[in-house]
Amino acid sequence: MIPPIASKFVAGETPAEALDHTRELNDRNVKVILNLLGEHYHDRGPADEDAEAYLRLLEGIDGSGLGACVSVKPSQIGLDAGTQVFRENVERIVDHAAERDLFVWIDMEDHTTTDATLDVYEELARKHEGGVGVCIQANLHRTADDLERLADVPGKVRLVKGAYDEPESVALTEKSAVDAAYEEYLEYMFEHFEGGIAVGSHDPAMISLAKDLHDEYGTDFEIQMLMGVREDAQYDLAEEYEVYQYVPYGGKWLSYFYRRVMERKENLLFAARAIIGG
Ligand code: FAD
Repeated sequence: MIPPIASKFVAGETPAEALDHTRELNDRNVKVILNLLGEHYHDRGPADEDAEAYLRLLEGIDGSGLGACVSVKPSQIGLDAGTQVFRENVERIVDHAAERDLFVWIDMEDHTTTDATLDVYEELARKHEGGVGVCIQANLHRTADDLERLADVPGKVRLVKGAYDEPESVALTEKSAVDAAYEEYLEYMFEHFEGGIAVGSHDPAMISLAKDLHDEYGTDFEIQMLMGVREDAQYDLAEEYEVYQYVPYGGKWLSYFYRRVMERKENLLFAARAIIGG
């Protein structure tokens, strides 16, 4: 069982717990992106197992009436075991979702995976128009070119600042430079994309910019935040905008929880407060 301190950031170990959490959020007008925790499988076996777990999860969402989609990590479903393994598994998942009219996001991992991830994404987005989305990281030097490439692809793009420690040769490393790049790319997306923009950020400045750009260009967008982070803001924003909470679940919760605490030590305090009701 997940200890209460971690359950602020992770919905549970089982799909049933993740769907219960989804129901509670849907009642507050927040939709959900479900992510089964797991990454960096070097063998095909565990990658296939997690791909199959996603197929079952999609079956669970289907017919439940819940507002939920899924997000998969390339290295969780086979990228480290070979691009072809990843391609086959993500295609199985997206096909299965499309049959049920459900949406699949592809998370973005470190820069060595960007080309393979975007190639597979573009192929599937053209096959299942409107059924798949990909994450793009504002810290990478290549992102302007990638956004230009993706502007005409019929899918969604989640813009994030970037969670991986990347070398200076490929990425901006100063936080202020990443913030400026995020703003620039957000503006590019609102101007050049037909819709399908996801603002994957907790940063009030980025969300406020997105609202202004929406007013200026009229392009559709959604806001995405992580479970356990600025949840009150999520509920408030959901009164006016489309808001998704990214909800991790599964047995591999410990390293995820550790990462949330390491990136922001106050998270431990928030989690503790949530338990003692302070
Ligand atoms: P930050 O720069 O971390 O914070 C800016 C401001 O936001 C802070 O000053 C504060 O005002 C507010 N804030 C941030 N955290 C908190 C908090 N805990 N409590 C209160 N206020 C807070 N990265 C990837 O590399 N690949 C992915 O596929 C990916 N997917 C993501 C999906 C979603 C839905 C989200 C939200 C993030 C994802 N990320 C991903 C992570 C992302 O790259 C950033 O590392 C992460 O979101 C932190 O950046 P930020 O924009 O939220 O703002």
